[in-house]
Amino acid sequence: MERTVYVNGKYLPESQASVSVFDRGFLFADAVYEVTAVLDGKLIDQAGHLARLKRSATELGMVLPCSEQELIQIHHQLIEKNQLVEGGIYLQLTRGNEGDRDFSFSDGIKPTLVLFTQARNLIENDTAQQGIKVISVEDIRWRRRDIKTTCLLPACLAKHIAHQAGADDVWMLENGVVTEGGSSNAYIVDQLGRVITRPLSQDILHGITRASLLQMAQDLDITIIERPFTLQEAYAAQEAFISSATAFVWPVIAIDEHRIGGGQPGPVARKLREIYIEIARSRAI
Ligand code: PMP
Repeated sequence: MERTVYVNGKYLPESQASVSVFDRGFLFADAVYEVTAVLDGKLIDQAGHLARLKRSATELGMVLPCSEQELIQIHHQLIEKNQLVEGGIYLQLTRGNEGDRDFSFSDGIKPTLVLFTQARNLIENDTAQQGIKVISVEDIRWRRRDIKTTCLLPACLAKHIAHQAGADDVWMLENGVVTEGGSSNAYIVDQLGRVITRPLSQDILHGITRASLLQMAQDLDITIIERPFTLQEAYAAQEAFISSATAFVWPVIAIDEHRIGGGQPGPVARKLREIYIEIARSRAI
């Protein structure tokens, strides 16, 4: 069945949905995006995703073409039109197009807004049960990783290298210190059961799942330490895991040739996944 896709105010069959070849999102990756998980036909952590979208757009001098309320309505319309029960909604906002290719742009050009649904099993998910293997790669991304842009070529290439090496994903490194996962925030658990994750800065994306998860962990009296950690520390960790909007929490059971936690998902990651799903689900809209 063809999906219904949203493009600039219209709901269209996916085969008829298109944007201009001169769109700056296509030509320059001059675009920001969000992915929001859907459970039981409802949006997870929606307020956080909209706040970050607004921030990303503002940082690049783009404006949202409609109000937050309208954006939520579009999400809900797509869920209904596509009968989406579980999966995600991808939203991309580009600076728009001025009818030609030119590095410079005018202020106030009309942005392009596209949204589509992706049906996926997020809860009953083999990867979540078994955990993932990651390899470390150099982080070659630009210096404003806090802005959620579609400049994702470094992540695409890194993930491709991981898949070729028989791994599931990457952890990215800068000067021997882990920045984040290929499309996730990265965490380790030390011998005392404390969760360690890199603090927010321009070096990493400010994960919406991360923000909720850290709050929930604190409520559970799990100690969180926000500090950079090295690859060597990660090799020796009791547990490792990642968070993202559609993974929620996935255990990491191997980093390079090192098995973590005996190569099995650990109790802290498992607990945090359970808690996140339970609480985020109860707050879904
Ligand atoms: N870091 C990077 C580089 C990502 O691509 C993502 C997922 N988009 C995340 C972290 C996790 O962010 P969120 O929890 O908001 O999905």
